[in-house]
Amino acid sequence: MIKTGFLLVILFFNLGLGYRLPINALGRNSISSLKLTEIGEFGLLRKERPHVPAHLHTGIDIKRPTNNYQNEPIYPIFEGIVISKRQDGPYAQLIIEHGGDHKFWTVYEHISGIEVDLFDSVSTETKIARFMNRNELNKYGWQFDHFHFEILKVQPIKLKQNNLNPERLFSSYTLVAYTKEDLNKYFYDPLDFLEKHLN
Ligand SMILES: [Zn+2]
Repeated sequence: MIKTGFLLVILFFNLGLGYRLPINALGRNSISSLKLTEIGEFGLLRKERPHVPAHLHTGIDIKRPTNNYQNEPIYPIFEGIVISKRQDGPYAQLIIEHGGDHKFWTVYEHISGIEVDLFDSVSTETKIARFMNRNELNKYGWQFDHFHFEILKVQPIKLKQNNLNPERLFSSYTLVAYTKEDLNKYFYDPLDFLEKHLN
């Protein structure tokens, strides 16, 4: 009996069931291991800049957990399917759909070295991408020394097929959240969500 329980625990762990942090922190099971950038909080007002109206920050900006400026890994927080992939420089992004009856979606942006294909099944143990490395930060700017992470309550916006970015099938509501109501309609607060679900 005890042996069976033990095997089930191992199976559970290996399948990557349950929720985990998206970064390589010890245990990946406590939000205290998540460090955000100075302006990385959820819901912060982001000022207007060229071509981008003022908006609320729809996710969190997660700092690199170590000094690894070469291949610091990024993982999904839950098992799911890759439904959108864009690989254009600093705005590279993956969107993953999760859940059966109670769906949610996660967005990973300002990432690099994407290791999954569109429609791949992923678990919390799948290395999907990495933080930008030193060369990329020198090229695109050190303001990208983090990754932007969102959790959506509603399906992302379906895009028309675009030959320049053929695997980018969806976009998030990132630049269209102008009020707290917009924000709460589309997004979970990632820290609240993770705190509730991590074990
Ligand atoms: Zn951000």
